[in-house]
Amino acid sequence: MSFESLGLAPALLRALAEQGYSEPTPIQAGAIPVVLEGHDLLAAAQTGTGKTAAFSLPLLQRMSGSAPSGTRRPRALILTPTRELAAQIHDNLRDYGKHLRVSSAVIFGGVSMGPQMQALRRGVDIVIATPGRLVDHMQQRTIDLSGIEVLVLDEADRMLDMGFLPPLKRIVGALPKRRQTLLFSATFAPEIKSLAMQFMQSPREVSVTPANSVATTVSHQVHPVDAPRKRDLLLHVLSKDSRRQTLVFSRTKHGADKLVRFLEQSGLRAAAIHGNKSQNARTRALADFKNGRITVLVATDIAARGIDIDQLPIVINYDLPMVAEDYVHRIGRTGRAGAEGVALSLVSHEESGLLRDIRKLLNQDIAILEVPGFELSSPLRLDAHAPRPKQGQRQQQRPQRQGGSSHRPHAHVQHNNGGEHAMGNRKRHSRGRRPAAKA
Ligand code: AMP
Repeated sequence: MSFESLGLAPALLRALAEQGYSEPTPIQAGAIPVVLEGHDLLAAAQTGTGKTAAFSLPLLQRMSGSAPSGTRRPRALILTPTRELAAQIHDNLRDYGKHLRVSSAVIFGGVSMGPQMQALRRGVDIVIATPGRLVDHMQQRTIDLSGIEVLVLDEADRMLDMGFLPPLKRIVGALPKRRQTLLFSATFAPEIKSLAMQFMQSPREVSVTPANSVATTVSHQVHPVDAPRKRDLLLHVLSKDSRRQTLVFSRTKHGADKLVRFLEQSGLRAAAIHGNKSQNARTRALADFKNGRITVLVATDIAARGIDIDQLPIVINYDLPMVAEDYVHRIGRTGRAGAEGVALSLVSHEESGLLRDIRKLLNQDIAILEVPGFELSSPLRLDAHAPRPKQGQRQQQRPQRQGGSSHRPHAHVQHNNGGEHAMGNRKRHSRGRRPAAKA
């Protein structure tokens, strides 16, 4: 599958090549043709699947077509729950659209409205906004939404969680009825279906479902530990067999770098691979790991996808992934081909909710083994109120595409016939309802 075959314009293909993307991700392959054909789209995909490009590319293509003469009104509106996401989408639009003449502006709260008003007055094609601040602009009549041809609801489930339903309704009520609507959400929960019923017209559905199989030869173990003592515990575990090749997962790029510095200072040979490293640095780290020059490879989830190493005796989760399914991707690196493998997770109180999700997904018990000298101050909570770390910044990395991963997700496209849609297992952990927030 190539980007060319999806029907994207040469200017976009050029930008994609410059980004280093060689092939579409499953959500892109599923969504882009549907959007280019002008259909409404209900897409189940979460951060990390390439969903931003899945809507940005066809949107840019449409916006690069001639605008109604003389119009300076925005033609597309992207709504997203947080400023970070809004800024990230804006950056991506600029990257993908650099060879096109399409303008965009980003609108979110917490900063003064002046520059946003000026950008809107100058005229832009695409507005990326958080719902609260957009409503402020509507009230002050500093935005005209009557020219919107395409509406994108990004992370719709999260917008609902954050109490944005009232502003969403208000915004959608101010848009032209004849428009294309794209809704992206991690799940197709009933609230999302109901939103789709209200805002969309016979949407096509695309979902990305990963294979959730875990080798039965993997033994799952947890070492509970207080967060500040994690790195010492890691060192303790690694020092037990300092020649053993170990893949360690970190949730963030920054965390991976810090951990490598710490391990190196402690005398271990380690390297990190993540999206901020050049392709050369990643290739070198991987080669060094394979030939034994380094024994510890610290990777982030996305960077590890598609890299060709498996049959490791042990994979360590220094942090648990925010999404339980990523645990399955991670430990797919061990216990392959009938070999025994250990998936060891260092879990602090803050992560006990994530551990609960993983246990549920695996539908199997995980041995919780305290390590003498690293005992927790109080036991891990694994009940319904178990805490989860705050959803920090999402990772801004690109999945590497060399080598095949048997855990690559695949996309399903289907027509919406009003029936129940099977979402597979790609469910995000349920978040507690948060109080209404203004972005
Ligand atoms: P997203 O799911 O939109 O947060 O995207 C996750 C990361 O994947 C972003 O850093 C993108 O730059 C990157 N990405 C998106 N599409 C591709 C692709 N086709 N090939 C490689 N990387 C991609």
